[in-house]
Amino acid sequence: MDRQMMLDLDANDRLKKFRDKFYIPHDTLYFDGNSLGMAPLETKRKMIEVIEKEWGQGLIRSWADEDWAISGQRVGNKIAKLIGANEGEVIAADSTSINIFKAIAAALQCNTGRKIVLSTDDNFPTDLYMMQGLEKFSPERIKGMTVKSDQILDSLNEEVAAILLTEVNYKTGQILDMSKITKKAHEKGILVIWDLSHSAGSIPVHLNKYSVDFAVGCGYKFLNGGPGAPAFIFISKKHQKNIYPILSGWMGHKDPFEFSKNYTAANGIDRFLCGTPPLLGLIALECGVDLVLEADLKQLRKKAIKLSVIFIELMERQCNKYGFKLASPKNKNNRAGHVSFRHANGFSVSRALAADGVIGDFRVPDIIRFGIAPIYTRYQDIYDAVERIKHVMKLEKWKQFDQKVTSYT
Ligand SMILES: *Cc1c(COP(=O)(O)O)cnc(C)c1O
Repeated sequence: MDRQMMLDLDANDRLKKFRDKFYIPHDTLYFDGNSLGMAPLETKRKMIEVIEKEWGQGLIRSWADEDWAISGQRVGNKIAKLIGANEGEVIAADSTSINIFKAIAAALQCNTGRKIVLSTDDNFPTDLYMMQGLEKFSPERIKGMTVKSDQILDSLNEEVAAILLTEVNYKTGQILDMSKITKKAHEKGILVIWDLSHSAGSIPVHLNKYSVDFAVGCGYKFLNGGPGAPAFIFISKKHQKNIYPILSGWMGHKDPFEFSKNYTAANGIDRFLCGTPPLLGLIALECGVDLVLEADLKQLRKKAIKLSVIFIELMERQCNKYGFKLASPKNKNNRAGHVSFRHANGFSVSRALAADGVIGDFRVPDIIRFGIAPIYTRYQDIYDAVERIKHVMKLEKWKQFDQKVTSYT
């Protein structure tokens, strides 16, 4: 595997034209698209158009004239295509954390008489925090519990109301078996909530094929929606009418402009809106989602697997002697869009790599993550990154960096 081979793979890559649709930072090998996707060129063009024309000239009229009022639904329907959902089952709104709150509250309403919500102790913290917040407010209705992720199947019993699981682990990229877990949960009368934050736009998801009840996910990771982009929530058609939204904001009202004193939930997925939709954020998210739809998720997944296999093989050949240990599953089908390595000096190593233009990130206690976003990552980037990692390790450049964890990346 030499550099020429990578250049050849890039030349024959069916997805190569997509890289030209993004801003590419100068002298940077970017491996953090799982945390913040790159900026599409179209996003700038569209934002300027919306600000100058729709906001600048149209002002308040644009809520109706430009369909601003239904943008969360429109973007939601596009995301639905990426996660195996139908029209009217997904809405883009709020943050993932807030949507987790909505989904847990909804699940408990659909499964009365049970109060345990089960998650895994390696889940992303905000998922657990939202569960703990609901429990603090209403300990008689909900009891949050966690188990190790390999214990999930054995922990499903008739006391559990719902499980809250993240399909792709944020540290290791490991994919949980959505089909198997959902099926076993349903056999025990348990409803399932899947967090798709690291799945959406990265791996094909089949929510309705597996009769999933609820799901949430993130807009700024593999969907390239921009920093703090709106998130999304999926509520299966079969449950929608049974749920009284606890976050019962006016935009989820049946007729917000009736300004009625009492809340009546809107029909369908609309009732999971809360406040006024963040229009500019939704427009930016839509640009990112459109690109993923155009590139085709099956193609993206195929290329992501090829890239990650090459990356791991090069790392093992070139950098094993420097103390990296693969933290992601060895089997390529059990890993999603990022590859992680453990390293005893993980934080300083990731700082030193960033200083040399290789942007991955670090997760406590010792995980260095490399996000692989096939929509803009090239084979030659993988090769060049491993060369730079080797260089940093050989010269022990990381020794100049503090091991005390200080920042986001
Ligand atoms: C990134 C991520 C989130 C993010 O939540 P926000 O409310 O958008 O900050 C939530 N859950 C998981 C599993 C994530 O990976």
